[in-house]
Amino acid sequence: MSATVIDGKAVARTVRERLAREVAELPEPPGLATVLVGDDPASAIYVSSKRKQCAQAGMRDLHQHLPGDISQAKLAVIIDHLNADPAVTGILLQLPLPEHLDAAELVARIDPDKDVDGLTTISAGRLAQGGPGLRPCTPSGVIELLDAYEIPIEGAHAVVVGRSELVGKPQAQLLLQRNATVTICHSRTRDVDAECRRADILVAAAGIPRLVGASAVKPGATVIDVGIHRTDSGLCGDVDFDAVREVAGAITPVPGGVGPMTIAMLLKNTVTAART
Ligand code: NAD
Repeated sequence: MSATVIDGKAVARTVRERLAREVAELPEPPGLATVLVGDDPASAIYVSSKRKQCAQAGMRDLHQHLPGDISQAKLAVIIDHLNADPAVTGILLQLPLPEHLDAAELVARIDPDKDVDGLTTISAGRLAQGGPGLRPCTPSGVIELLDAYEIPIEGAHAVVVGRSELVGKPQAQLLLQRNATVTICHSRTRDVDAECRRADILVAAAGIPRLVGASAVKPGATVIDVGIHRTDSGLCGDVDFDAVREVAGAITPVPGGVGPMTIAMLLKNTVTAART
């Protein structure tokens, strides 16, 4: 039997509508400062979607477009100003930055209470200790999808393929916080397929097209595909969707699965930041 296909677009729409209602009830609209350095076309598209959805949810769009040759020192001063500006609720420094800039140092400068991407060391520490804080958007979106489809996390065996700071590690932490038993696979794992076969919830975030095939999936498992790749035959993920949907109980498509959730969670983080 074919798996339930998890509709990330629909869940993201519902989240955005809920957030727009919450924004309307705040004393002042939150302000999101997206910071785009240079003219990388892919980054420009991402930032423009973030700004559009921020405005649609009733938030203030406090975008900054900076020249690609800006110095580290000047960008640091701009971040300091955004940190100090009470109109700025959230700061999003669009990555990657031009090569002459030290992205890690600049991200570290962002006030953790305005870190709506959840990427600072303090945000990571708050997540690791289970304290309140802003969580990375893509892994939070995965949890939101599981909840929307009422997929039980507590007690489930969750396998995360990938251990990046952006996705894999925070994903594992978020699943652990929800009382899953978590295994993390990475490029040195001896037998990734064998680990994956034990998963009730399998999150693929290795950045390798169609890495997870049907033989790596336990019948009835929930398979969440974070990967996104442009191929000659269109977009695909880290999961071989057509084969795995015949084995899994539920599965996210690419596109239309995890992708739409990322910006929805950015908006959610901005509302959370406005409340703290
Ligand atoms: P990354 O390259 O930083 O990390 C990949 C991880 O996968 C590493 O930890 C590595 O150890 C592991 N890995 C590599 N090969 C492996 C293998 N053969 N078996 C098991 N593990 C292996 O990538 P990332 O930033 O975490 O992103 C992962 C994927 O998710 C990419 O395709 C990226 O484009 C996508 N992504 C999507 C969204 C979204 O909004 N949908 C957001 C972020 C990332």
